[in-house]
Amino acid sequence: MSLPSEVDVAIIGAGAAGLGAARALENSGLSTIVLEARDRVGGRGYTIMAAPNITFDLGCGWLHSADKNSFVKIAKRLNIEIDKTRPPWREQSFDAAFPPKERADFIEAIDAFYDRAEEAAKSGRDSAASAYLEPGNRWNPMIDAISTYVNGSELDRVSILDMDAYEDTGINWRVRRGYGALMTAYGAPCPLALNTQVTLIDHSGTRVRIETSQGTLTASKVIVTVPTNLIADEAIRFHPTLPAKVDAARGLPLGLADKVMLALDQPEALPKDGNLRGATMRTAMGSFHLRPFGQPCIEGYFGGSFAQALEDAGRGAVAAQAINEIAALLGNDYRRKLKPLSESRWAHDPFARGSYSHALPGHAGDRAVLAAPVDGRLFFAGEATSPNFFSTAHGARDSGERAAGEVIRNK
Ligand SMILES: Cc1cc2nc3c(=O)[nH]c(=O)nc-3n(C[C@H](O)[C@H](O)[C@H](O)COP(=O)(O)OP(=O)(O)OC[C@H]3O[C@@H](n4cnc5c(N)ncnc54)[C@H](O)[C@@H]3O)c2cc1C
Repeated sequence: MSLPSEVDVAIIGAGAAGLGAARALENSGLSTIVLEARDRVGGRGYTIMAAPNITFDLGCGWLHSADKNSFVKIAKRLNIEIDKTRPPWREQSFDAAFPPKERADFIEAIDAFYDRAEEAAKSGRDSAASAYLEPGNRWNPMIDAISTYVNGSELDRVSILDMDAYEDTGINWRVRRGYGALMTAYGAPCPLALNTQVTLIDHSGTRVRIETSQGTLTASKVIVTVPTNLIADEAIRFHPTLPAKVDAARGLPLGLADKVMLALDQPEALPKDGNLRGATMRTAMGSFHLRPFGQPCIEGYFGGSFAQALEDAGRGAVAAQAINEIAALLGNDYRRKLKPLSESRWAHDPFARGSYSHALPGHAGDRAVLAAPVDGRLFFAGEATSPNFFSTAHGARDSGERAAGEVIRNK
């Protein structure tokens, strides 16, 4: 779609939040356009065929809190298959790598850590989650590794109040065709301008002027859904400036998680939907999903500063690390059985600059600050604005719907 010169509502970003906002405005009588810098919709939801028989979600893959996840209903409506196989995260497929007794000890230690943090959060005083690790506990590095997957960051940079606010119902499903593919189908009816990078939102006049890589347009109202790191870095600028938004975005940085997909020769030797951890006594390690959906592949997951170091080492480093870890656990034969297909590089992605948001200690309140409208004309959505489903795709989508509701109320 070519860029109109004026519109009632401009939505910036065609990720889950932007698409959620656009779909919610469908029958509002307001003219709408979604401005998207990339050549595709979905943002951090992105499914590719890593091989003809291997579906790979480079971004979100799990319908977290599936019993409260608005994408579940959407998938049903669109007739898109949902897979309800339980995630293997708490299990380990090979006892030799992580014996059951050790596993039970670890689970007890991590559950006790979460209980202590939850108890501390009741005081209403914020602090770093790492303060609730038991000093000297042998499982601390591994608990921190889990934080790098869940928060994209080590615990010393994670607020306990924010961690406590996150709502996890413990039910996690998947989309067989890919979560990104579901978003694409959901967004299909949206009025959209791709390859349109917004650089400036000028709200000094009676109408909001939006400068983009495809020219300028004006809007009565704007919904901003770009990831926090872009607001924090002022990669998208406001005039007059919005220092409270920039500060809030800086308090809610995107942590990092990266995925790698490896093709697997002789897949029958490994269990379908199994799990393997690269190590048990350190933080810098991958977590491996064996044969997701029974496909002939292994999907690796790396998080936090280790993922950052691997990305910084250059393309192929994530895959090389994954193969080294798997070969160390299952035997050297796996070096020849595994072939790198694809890996994400979310920190180096100019329109994401990370994977998902967490609040820094002392900054749990920043989510509400970021979400608040400005002058009844600028509205904010995106996963980081969700009060309790932040860091997720459904939290992002719901926030878009919330911002659309605010627009309609301010009509
Ligand atoms: C590796 C990984 C694994 C994940 N796993 C899960 C999971 O299992 N389950 C889950 O629920 N969530 C998961 N997530 C998180 C989930 O993907 C995100 O929270 C969600 O997709 C964010 O949606 P959003 O609309 O807020 O932001 P985005 O999807 O980032 O959308 C923002 C859009 O704005 C665009 N944009 C940026 N700058 C500009 C600009 N200047 N002009 C125009 N457009 C711009 C971007 O290109 C993007 O399309 C994962 C994320 C990653 C990276």
